[in-house]
Amino acid sequence: MRITRVDLLGSSCDHGRMLKIHKTSYWTLVLLVTSCAQPRHPNLNSTLWALTSAEYEAATRTVYESAARTLAEAKADLTWTAALEQRQDLNDPKVQETLKPAVILDIDETVLNNAPYFARIIRDEKRVATGTWDAWVAEHRAKALAGVIDYVREAKRQGIAVVYLTNRACRKRPGSDASCPQRSDTIVNLQTAGLPALGPDDLVLLRNQQPGWDRDKGKRRAYVCENYRILQIFGDNLGDFAPAPGNRDTAPTPAQRRAMIAQYQDKWGSKWFMLPNPMYGPWLNVLGDDPEAYLK
Ligand SMILES: [Mg+2]
Repeated sequence: MRITRVDLLGSSCDHGRMLKIHKTSYWTLVLLVTSCAQPRHPNLNSTLWALTSAEYEAATRTVYESAARTLAEAKADLTWTAALEQRQDLNDPKVQETLKPAVILDIDETVLNNAPYFARIIRDEKRVATGTWDAWVAEHRAKALAGVIDYVREAKRQGIAVVYLTNRACRKRPGSDASCPQRSDTIVNLQTAGLPALGPDDLVLLRNQQPGWDRDKGKRRAYVCENYRILQIFGDNLGDFAPAPGNRDTAPTPAQRRAMIAQYQDKWGSKWFMLPNPMYGPWLNVLGDDPEAYLK
């Protein structure tokens, strides 16, 4: 009977070893069964948090509601910009006239919640990879994070353009002639998730959509700044706001990444708004192959 229970716990348990131990020590077996019942995937807790917790909803709602309160002030101040790439002289009335107000939002874990994708990866013992991710994008099933729909509605009510700037990548998909099926899929998903329909001034900009639009979002922010004045920026990764350690081929430390928070302390909470993402990101990638070393 006990061995049957072990079987139900899944493949991470070493059945052969358990059978051997079972013959010699009942209590060792119980201990091993208990250890087998511990979370078996490194992303289990973070995915469950993003999938089920009230705290996640409260956190994202807090971000978007507080941002919405300062939107009108940011729009009214014609010298206000949230983008480091905004190079024009915003004190020049002629420049002010030419720039439309806009906000920039990253998409994944900023507007759309992909926790169901990561749940699938854990449940089906699959890998986070281009193929499984692209299949998820094509399903258009990601839901909106709490608070973002109301925020985007408010921005549009105030005549502010919405720019979705994502590192979802344009790439050929087997069986499709489209150059960027991921872009149309993303637009459909934004609508099915309940975001307001795109207006003529709204933009959806993917990685590789144009030559040179690489993982570093700076070039795309500069492109947007040519015609828009950026009031607020939202993301779940430092690179959503500025060129960041961890988005390049360097090997930064967590401390180097955290230094960017102090460097731009005047922007957080007024111009830049960070959403929590414990599931993935450069914050995790920079820990390397031995993340336990950081437990010291
Ligand atoms: Mg993101």
